Amino acid sequence: MFTDTEETAVYKTAMVGDPDLTSRLLDAGVSFSGEEIEQTSTLVTLLMWFLPLIIFVAIGQVMYKKLLNKAGGGGSAMTFGMGKSNAKVYVQSTDGIRFSDVAGEEEAKENLTEIVDYLHNPTKYKEIGASMPKGILLVGPPGTGKTMLAKAVAGESNVPFFSISGSEFVEMFVGMGASKVRDLFRQAKEKAPCIVFIDEIDAIGKKRDGQLGGNDEREQTLNQLLTEMDGFEDNTGVIILAATNRPESLDPALTRPGRFDRRVPVELPDLQGREAILRVHAKKIRIADDVDFSKVARMASGASGAELANIVNEAALRAVRDGRSFATQSDMEESVEVVIAGYQKKNAILTDREKWMVAYHEVGHALVAARQTNSAPVQKITIIPRTSGALGYTMQVEEGNHYLMIKEELENKIATLTGGRAAEEVKFGTISTGAANDIEQATKLARAMITRYGMSGDFDMVAMETVTNQYLGGDTSLACSPQSQAEIDRQVIELVKKQHEKAIQILTENREKLDEISQYLYEKETITGEEFMTILNA
Ligand code: ADP
Ligand code: ZN
Repeated sequence: MFTDTEETAVYKTAMVGDPDLTSRLLDAGVSFSGEEIEQTSTLVTLLMWFLPLIIFVAIGQVMYKKLLNKAGGGGSAMTFGMGKSNAKVYVQSTDGIRFSDVAGEEEAKENLTEIVDYLHNPTKYKEIGASMPKGILLVGPPGTGKTMLAKAVAGESNVPFFSISGSEFVEMFVGMGASKVRDLFRQAKEKAPCIVFIDEIDAIGKKRDGQLGGNDEREQTLNQLLTEMDGFEDNTGVIILAATNRPESLDPALTRPGRFDRRVPVELPDLQGREAILRVHAKKIRIADDVDFSKVARMASGASGAELANIVNEAALRAVRDGRSFATQSDMEESVEVVIAGYQKKNAILTDREKWMVAYHEVGHALVAARQTNSAPVQKITIIPRTSGALGYTMQVEEGNHYLMIKEELENKIATLTGGRAAEEVKFGTISTGAANDIEQATKLARAMITRYGMSGDFDMVAMETVTNQYLGGDTSLACSPQSQAEIDRQVIELVKKQHEKAIQILTENREKLDEISQYLYEKETITGEEFMTILNA
């Protein structure tokens, strides 16, 4: 741009990147001047102003959405619904779960029948002045039917059933959990008589330890729960059932009289229980008339109710896969193995040597067991690989209901566990990785004998270890000095070693039987306990 006047012409330009320009202009006698003008482009300016704004709005949106979700999805969340409880109301009718659907938990059912009776006929109890426990704690391993039992109590008494999981109380924002508890109890009192079921109560009911950085939200929620439980008078008709598989971690304030003072154990089912559970679930599928439930129950030793339900369902699925219209005994037996060990690996190709090793390993276990007890130790041995990673396994015979074990039995058990490895040593003169699981179990057992059962030489009746969660794998924590720990380790090794040597000795003495049965297993891939005993006693 330029301005033309009479005498001079004034030119304007932006900065020119030429270092010699000044001297050339001076040489030419031009008068000039310059000024700095801000050069930021409009786009950059806009971004600088609006980007932070956009980011803030986005964060706000995300937080708002979270709030909405947590508060149960209502649009009114921000105004007054914040922290509204998620408790679902199941108004039970006759199609609900009944005690008859819960099999094998007779003691628990008996215990809860009283609650049902109370809900049907509270005056009977009021007249005599008896008050129902406010809270009942169902404790036991996962999948044993605790939720079912709670529902059955509601179903039998024909009252509303509120259910919420302990973890649902624990929120991102301090105070929300407590407000949910308040809300839940308000609803419950309106609908009384009713059942409130809190699953996984350990999520909020953990011991308050006063540690720095403890979970404030959880403690506030727990305090609110305690306050609410104290707040309603006896006989309002609100019965709180709670379930946990970690009873030892609960705050003592929660389990004291007046709160969850009644504890109903819901244990893994025994043989009869398992049979009953199988029968209950088998009613839901089409199944052959000649299915031997007692045999299936014996095979599924240690299974929980949930696993048994799964076994029945697997059997039905298997029948469909094979194009049959009902499930048979063999479907049931195969699905027990599926649930225990996984599916058969159809195309796992073991080398010949591997297959021989697995055969000897499994027979080693069985033979050591049989020679120690002089009875059939196994129901079945198979060397068909499974998806769980097991290359072969031995299905043990259920020893009936066994509540006590003596020292010799435990030692024999350790010897049996080492029998697989021992067979590899006796036959092949080398050892394989196949014994990892056996080693783990043998060690666990030996450790328990020394640290918890007082079966060591010199610790007498002193507990060197305590079990921290009995229903979830039974983890333990050491409670002794480092010197004792070293001594424990030494004794555990000694104990296992002695049993391992015993196993090797048994197999060496029975070398012919070991070869004979292993040969048979190698050829047939699956043998029954009877076949095993026939060859052994031949
Ligand atoms: P928990 O609450 O103890 O973890 P659930 O009550 O949720 O266990 O049980 C899970 C499933 O397992 C149930 O839906 C049911 O199908 C089955 N089940 C568990 N225990 C039993 C039982 N005693 N009788 C019948 N079915 C059972
Ligand atoms: Zn083994």
